Amino acid sequence: MSCPARSHDELADLLAAHGADRFHDECGVFGVHGHPEASKITYLGLYALQHRGQESAGIVATPGHGREHNVHRAMGLVADIFNEKVLGKLEGRLAIGHVRYSTAGGSQLSNAQPFCATTDGGPIALAHNGNLVNALSIRRELEGRGAIFSTTADSEVIVQLLARSRERTQEERLLDALSRVKGAFSLVMLTDDALIAARDPHGFRPLSLGRLDGAWVVASETCALDLIGATFERDLDPGEVVVIRRGRLRSLRPFSKEREAFCIFEYIYFARPDSNLNGHNVYAFRKELGRVLARQNPVAADVVVPVLDSGNMAALGYAEESGIPYEPAMIRNHYVRRTFIEPSQSIRHFGVKVKHNAVKGALHGKRVVLVDDSIVRGTTLSKLVAMLRNAGASEVHLRISSPATIGPCHYGIDTPTREELIAHAHSVEEIRDLLGSDSLGYQSLEGLRGCAKSLKHSFCDACFSDEYPVDGVESGPPPQLSLFRTIENED
Ligand code: SF4
Repeated sequence: MSCPARSHDELADLLAAHGADRFHDECGVFGVHGHPEASKITYLGLYALQHRGQESAGIVATPGHGREHNVHRAMGLVADIFNEKVLGKLEGRLAIGHVRYSTAGGSQLSNAQPFCATTDGGPIALAHNGNLVNALSIRRELEGRGAIFSTTADSEVIVQLLARSRERTQEERLLDALSRVKGAFSLVMLTDDALIAARDPHGFRPLSLGRLDGAWVVASETCALDLIGATFERDLDPGEVVVIRRGRLRSLRPFSKEREAFCIFEYIYFARPDSNLNGHNVYAFRKELGRVLARQNPVAADVVVPVLDSGNMAALGYAEESGIPYEPAMIRNHYVRRTFIEPSQSIRHFGVKVKHNAVKGALHGKRVVLVDDSIVRGTTLSKLVAMLRNAGASEVHLRISSPATIGPCHYGIDTPTREELIAHAHSVEEIRDLLGSDSLGYQSLEGLRGCAKSLKHSFCDACFSDEYPVDGVESGPPPQLSLFRTIENED
């Protein structure tokens, strides 16, 4: 069936409705060692990490001692994929899990993680968050030597390198494989008897360690530890590898030291506000960004309205600092899935309306400060500005808690191309004009870096500054799986 031709406006609407007008985190990982209900704990952990990926999820569990690894992976949300029956079959005291987000083209079951492989050293399963900047050339090299890849994901490169390593133990083989890759990885790996967790030397993505009833737990974010009632032990350091075997944890520092480059966007948008990253609460950071934004970009207004949920805390900070009342008068439907049935008769701005609606009574005749965390293409915000005006707002002043997004991410975040970013080719005044607001104020790069300074860590802010901490980013056509196409049932 061919797709009907769409107007620019309809396409923009569609992008906005499907969340395509945002940066997306690509994955969340979780692991348990030494718990009788390891797969159920992992299921709950993934549930808490669902915001990091909604396309597919998977769990691998094993009782160890040479017994098989049990695997379940599927497309969809954690709550839809797993049930009592499935979890009951995922036996064992060791388990790892993964949630994945992907762009539409890469959304296929073969790319769902954890990846599993049988090596001559036994079975392994691996779940990876991040993006490897040199995966393409390694893949070509391995394919030239006869390797057969079964996915298009960069993470499979680690599995293939590990399987071909001449080192003796699985742990040494993993370190050997990781020494070849460049870029971002926070990963968990399951062997027959161990849970291994590793963070790349720059520490782009978060990874935390916890304890639960004597068991060890590893999670992308601390909100997952909170849900299962685990105590937070510490974050893995950049470049640290921990090996947990027979209840004991060993910490290794196998990589040469690099400049720390924790992703600042984790604080701005990706991570859940109830998570602590590097010991600092995300909620508090976002609020502080809002305060600085208010000092940098004051405006006479009646209400501060957040774009839910991305602008929530920054709007609170803006309201507190400016003294303008906080009014969450833009309501968001939290139950929108990626597919919904559109009406055949076109409804104006249908896509955005599926997700957001303005409360007319709270906005009529008001001068509004609309706060969001970032502008990517600008398609959603232009619709929201129009929606506020239709609801009776007399003025709409847009305030953005991060600096202008001018570059794509190469380290594990799904972003549009540089050319698609509205700030790449337009001045602030041009963007204001395109979005239809009365004024537009971004956080300055200095303001963001000033807030980050108090966290006492070193950050990547390349998508705002164009200063990329890891070079050698490869480009080229994405790997093709094969000339086979999976035909799915159509009603
Ligand atoms: S480029 Fe942006 S999104 Fe990517 S790691 Fe750096 S700060 Fe995060």
